[in-house]
Amino acid sequence: MANKEDIFKRVISHAKEYGYIFQSSEIYDGLSAVYDYGQNGVELKNNIREYWWRAMVQLNDNIVGIDAAIFMHPTTWKASGHVDAFNDPLIDNKDSKKRYRADVLVEDHVAKIEAKIDKEVTKAAKRFGDTFDKQQFLATNTRVLGYREKADAILKRLGKSLEKEDLADVKALIEELEIACPLSGSKNWTDVKQFNLMFGTKLGSTAESAMDLYLRPETAQGIFVNFLNVQKTGRMKIPFGIAQTGKAFRNEIVARQFIFRMREFEQMEMQYFIKPGTQKEWYEAWKEKRMKWHLSLGMGEENYRFHDHEKLAHYADAAADIEFKFPFGFKELEGIHSRTDFDLANHEKYSSKKLQYFDPEENKSYVPYVLETSIGLDRMFLAVFSNALQEEELENNTTRTVLKLPAVLAPNKAAVLPLVKKDGLPEIAQKIVDDLKWHFNVAYDEKDAVGRRYRRQDAVGTPFCITVDHQTVEDDTVTIRHRDTMQQERVAISEVKGVIEKAVAMKEWLKGI
Ligand code: ATP
Repeated sequence: MANKEDIFKRVISHAKEYGYIFQSSEIYDGLSAVYDYGQNGVELKNNIREYWWRAMVQLNDNIVGIDAAIFMHPTTWKASGHVDAFNDPLIDNKDSKKRYRADVLVEDHVAKIEAKIDKEVTKAAKRFGDTFDKQQFLATNTRVLGYREKADAILKRLGKSLEKEDLADVKALIEELEIACPLSGSKNWTDVKQFNLMFGTKLGSTAESAMDLYLRPETAQGIFVNFLNVQKTGRMKIPFGIAQTGKAFRNEIVARQFIFRMREFEQMEMQYFIKPGTQKEWYEAWKEKRMKWHLSLGMGEENYRFHDHEKLAHYADAAADIEFKFPFGFKELEGIHSRTDFDLANHEKYSSKKLQYFDPEENKSYVPYVLETSIGLDRMFLAVFSNALQEEELENNTTRTVLKLPAVLAPNKAAVLPLVKKDGLPEIAQKIVDDLKWHFNVAYDEKDAVGRRYRRQDAVGTPFCITVDHQTVEDDTVTIRHRDTMQQERVAISEVKGVIEKAVAMKEWLKGI
């Protein structure tokens, strides 16, 4: 069994080798934490975006979409709190000169304690065999309880000091826990400082008239400033939602872990406008709805968990993450935030425009509360991709690399392969491609032995291979090979489209939500 780092390295190299993700400007040695999507990556990314958009906008008659500009009036970011509070606490190690997020150092320390709990569980599971009750073990084993208590106490203290902006205490915590720089091993730390994550730029041609702008650090504000435009022109009644996907930019301090943490990334956000006082029930409802969306993709229930925030962002009164088991452990994939009326009320204040809703049932106007769901498209990509990549031992003692992407998201749905490059087989195969391409992305491949071509399509994640052989010439049938089971079946050419459609249609998958 390969270790976590090896698995993650394999994910990165596979993504490159098969045209999913390239380092940005690679010929100039790349740009840190910026990535480009290749010919297969863009298809997978588009499919994830569409799967989200259909679930949110098409299937909810009270949710509509917008596409706001990346540039926004600079006062937006005063009102949203980002100018004053969109900071990360950073700390430098004086020996390695390496910069870290102070909260991440502490959280990594806690993860090590949690790993000890996992170890105890594995050990006990082995000892007790079938009679092992994990929940009971977690609730009663004294060693586990000790670790849990320690981990919780550290997180609680971190949450409190960050909330109070007591950076001296964050440093004190790092020192008390004797956290060392992973690079130099030294505990020689600077003080903790705040660092704003927004990228600045300028609008206008002359130095005097140029206006300072920020690249948006989240897509949400484009929705807030358009709240009334959409509500009025769409005659929307509360509760209703506005959804948006688009680029966001953050000057991340710790920019590693591939596309997990990028400086330019894409978000898929939905703001749900609700009556004040109803936020608790909508918070629970959206937590459940979003988890169902994730589970509908069939990537394993055990790979998801909720994590409630100890430390709340400046705008939130409740917040939880949906965490996914990435190759480097459970990490945030999506955030669900109860944002109260923080954003709209502040935009009202800063713009002096009324941003209220007249509620005909209550016969009064109010600033709505907002429940937000926010997921990183690139992070979702990484979740899907890393979960799909598998090395399988086959019966004949060989292995195969297979990318078991949910068929609904796969870049190509099928590859059409003539068994040999003669006897009229390529022409029949090409004709099948020409018919299917009106419905799905399909590939054509006639190079190398058919076994090698199967392996290639397995590695790139194509759910079906359609092979045209000499029997096809006689009876208009082909074989369909299923990527995950490697089973083959013989079907009439006229049935091929139906077989694929059943497996890849968004409708079938979205029924799960
Ligand atoms: P983190 O704690 O990991 O920095 P966050 O809590 O700041 O994330 P949010 O502001 O809640 O993230 O953003 C919503 C979603 O956007 C996240 O759940 C994540 O999927 C995605 N996201 C945030 N920052 C990045 C980034 N730098 N690169 C890729 N995706 C990101």
